[in-house]
Amino acid sequence: MALNEYTVGKAKIILVQGDITEMDTDVIVNAANSSLMGGGGVDGAIHRKGGPKILEECKRIRAIEWPEGLPTGKAVITTGGNLKAKHVIHTVGPVWHGGDKGEPELLAEAYRNSLKLAVSKGLKTISFPSISTGAYRYPIEQACKIALTTVKAFLEEEDKIDKVVFVLFTKHDLEVYKDVANEILKLIT
Ligand code: ADP
Repeated sequence: MALNEYTVGKAKIILVQGDITEMDTDVIVNAANSSLMGGGGVDGAIHRKGGPKILEECKRIRAIEWPEGLPTGKAVITTGGNLKAKHVIHTVGPVWHGGDKGEPELLAEAYRNSLKLAVSKGLKTISFPSISTGAYRYPIEQACKIALTTVKAFLEEEDKIDKVVFVLFTKHDLEVYKDVANEILKLIT
């Protein structure tokens, strides 16, 4: 069965509805905030289930690399703690302020930098949530186009990632992603 599975070069993009903390990809991506100290939504769920090791590493990263916080669009990596995924990449998406404050480029950067970091660590399978479309209020139809076009462009240039899973929390979010994916990606039938 190949529902919601797409190909880009040698890689697959898969859309699922679910909880990203359950994913067994090499790495899952956290829609963090720049403090890296945890928060609500995906961030809260990852720290709750992953345990204190993740926060310990986030604190070290703050102290050593980013004393003023992780800038929007950047990404860092920690252990996955008790999660099935061995690693968590923490990235900060933009807060939606109407769309003319650089939000599209910053959102694309968050996806690109997460993928680059995964490649630099030799990780081959990665799960993303829908970055910025919760507390940060980015309209999902627009965010989804950026997410899928950015990942597609990355996979077209870089063959070291085997699988990208988008883990959508609601049925509605999954439907939005499917509509866009069906337009711009090649469905595996
Ligand atoms: P942001 O601050 O970047 O908007 P949020 O965590 O508030 O991040 O929301 C991002 C998206 O993740 C939203 O669509 C939200 O519904 C979804 N979400 C929340 N919890 C989970 C989870 N456990 N797994 C996957 N997606 C989740």
